[in-house]
Amino acid sequence: AISIRNVWKEFGDQIVLEQISLDIAPRSFVALVGPSGCGKTTLLRMLLGEERPSRGEILLNGEPLRPEPDADRGIVFQRYSVFPHLTVLQNVTIGAEFKRSPFLGRLFAAARRAIESEAQDLLTAVGLQGNEDKYPAALSGGMQQRLALAQALMRKPKVLLLDEPFGALDQGIRREIHELMLRLWNENELTVVMVTHDLSEAFRLGTRVVALERRRDRPEERERYGATISRDLPVWPPRIANE
Ligand code: ATP
Repeated sequence: AISIRNVWKEFGDQIVLEQISLDIAPRSFVALVGPSGCGKTTLLRMLLGEERPSRGEILLNGEPLRPEPDADRGIVFQRYSVFPHLTVLQNVTIGAEFKRSPFLGRLFAAARRAIESEAQDLLTAVGLQGNEDKYPAALSGGMQQRLALAQALMRKPKVLLLDEPFGALDQGIRREIHELMLRLWNENELTVVMVTHDLSEAFRLGTRVVALERRRDRPEERERYGATISRDLPVWPPRIANE
């Protein structure tokens, strides 16, 4: 479980996030929506451990979140998540090499084969089998995002953080990748926090849709204040994992 408690984030004298509290249950799929610039990415980066709250705390299973990014949390961005100079297969295996002892894979052919076969399985799971030796530039945008998902999953994260992961894709391809996303979420027992601009996407995928909203009071201080959380929008019918 992730517990965001009274978190503030300030950059200089700009208050981006003001007193945000949010409890995220294991295996939920939280869609974060809100106007541009309200601090959604900043909140994700704090969940990743790349930014620290100015005030308040974030707990992961009751423990304070470690400041460094760690393997329990994977992230996929809208673009540029994959390495252009690595092949499709290498893009996935590198996820494992980050996590496990880096020299094991180099020393022992057997260990390397095990990692590669795991990567092959993931590529099949995201529908990219047969593309192992291509470079990302040879893939469509949708395929690149499938690859980014496989890469993130290779590290066996418990929490997957998605920053507008499908924002650059057109509608038809988005629908396909939504189905895939829901399947991966279920099969891998993930907790997902996804930032999106697309409300229909939020309601399609989210077990919870959380809106970050700007404060409407204190107009004289509007420049300084970014957003305050966090309103749960009703999701109907309720969705749970493994339905
Ligand atoms: P969008 O939907 O447009 O991506 P967002 O809701 O994700 O926006 P953030 O990217 O989190 O918003 O940015 C929120 C505010 O914080 C912006 O005004 C931004 O300029 C500011 N900000 C973010 N990171 C930093 C930083 N490292 N230093 C200074 N200001 C920052």
